[in-house]
Amino acid sequence: MTNFEKKYDVIVAGAGVAGVSAALEIARSGRSVALLEKTVMCGGLATAGFVYIYLPLCDGYGTQVSFGFAEELMHASARYGPGAPPPDWKNSAPGKTTKRLMLDFSPAAFTLAMDEMMSREPAIDRWYDTLVCASIVEDGRIKGVEVENKSGRGRVLADIVIDATGDGDVAARAGCAFHEEGNKLTIWALQTSLAVARQAAAKGDASGFLDFQMIGLEGENVDPAAKKKNYPWLGTDGKSVSRFTIETRAALLNHYAKLQSANNADTSRENLYPIALPTMAQFRTTRAIAGRATLDSGMAWKHFDDSIGLVADWRRRGSVWEIPYGAMVPLTVDGLLVAGRCISSHNDAWEVTRVIPPAAQTGQAAGIAAVLSLRKNIPPAQLAAADIQAELRRKKLPYHFDEVGLSAPESS
Ligand SMILES: Cc1cc2nc3c(=O)[nH]c(=O)nc-3n(C[C@H](O)[C@H](O)[C@H](O)COP(=O)(O)OP(=O)(O)OC[C@H]3O[C@@H](n4cnc5c(N)ncnc54)[C@H](O)[C@@H]3O)c2cc1C
Repeated sequence: MTNFEKKYDVIVAGAGVAGVSAALEIARSGRSVALLEKTVMCGGLATAGFVYIYLPLCDGYGTQVSFGFAEELMHASARYGPGAPPPDWKNSAPGKTTKRLMLDFSPAAFTLAMDEMMSREPAIDRWYDTLVCASIVEDGRIKGVEVENKSGRGRVLADIVIDATGDGDVAARAGCAFHEEGNKLTIWALQTSLAVARQAAAKGDASGFLDFQMIGLEGENVDPAAKKKNYPWLGTDGKSVSRFTIETRAALLNHYAKLQSANNADTSRENLYPIALPTMAQFRTTRAIAGRATLDSGMAWKHFDDSIGLVADWRRRGSVWEIPYGAMVPLTVDGLLVAGRCISSHNDAWEVTRVIPPAAQTGQAAGIAAVLSLRKNIPPAQLAAADIQAELRRKKLPYHFDEVGLSAPESS
């Protein structure tokens, strides 16, 4: 029994960076799109999850590899708040340490900038506080999703559905196979501190007021109690999400209780305290949907005939990856694409593809593929990569190494 039903050209489930990119691409191509988001924020982990580092669009030696929404959203992230890429990121003179084309941003400012971008696209219907709770599949083809919000349970239908939930919720509920990996117990939170504020004021740099703290099994403030907890933090069952949330906040509480009870004016509760907590559990990897192609460790510099774009490894310079379209197409279920951190990517490759620039890039590619599918009246799985690549070329978005003047190093 459902209370409402609505039909669009495309559904994008999840308004993280991938979902916002997909929705913008589809709307700018003149197609109607429902963007369904369970929270009241756009940006996902990058905003509600307090991830505030826009990782690099370049290879670390002065060559930009990611373009399109990956670049447009990077600039948007710093439009209403601090942040700018280092001016010398292109400086790859021998012997110099090259900075990278990346920046730190204020998650709140990024949310507002994405709101603004989407408000300029009337073809995007933004549904907030709307949980996608079931996939509607008939004869092997997805027809839409069931949602739950203040109006009750409803059906949202479309010709194409893009799963940008980060967790592959739509695909998993449609019966697609997936791969899972565990997560570190982590919490990133925002604090205010008189000492840090004084330093920022002395430097005349208000970006210093963004005082993020990383607590858990990594970062500067390792909590020994958290280290002992070995629960498999998968993020794909209700219990693990609740336990992750409880344990990470307990670690944060422990951190502040210790600091504030120390005999130190700088860390007293009046002078140093948390001001905002993430409203999304900070799982890095949950589900990677089994796709027609799978990226895996060792595939940096691998050529894919069906590549839809290039991404740089944020951890090391000189490591660039092509992303095959097949990694966004589930093995089963027609009419469905996946974008963002739930594309088909395992192990070391997942470390590369699960971050903000690839999320924007795969979101945009999914949007392009959805529009082409509608135009040609065929499911995304039957699209020729050449058609997607023709559209990428028209938009001046490189997708093979040689297009940005790079080639695989001899040893790779
Ligand atoms: C602790 C941590 C640190 C990180 N550090 C960095 C970093 O420094 N730099 C970087 O670039 N990346 C970093 N990342 C990764 C990065 O932020 C994300 O992986 C990236 O933003 C993923 O974007 P996405 O759109 O694919 O998914 P998400 O950001 O997960 O967005 C998915 C959206 O879908 C919504 N959603 C989920 N399920 C449903 C449902 N059933 N119905 C409706 N809506 C739903 C969610 O609410 C969310 O808004 C970090 C991640 C973590 C956890």
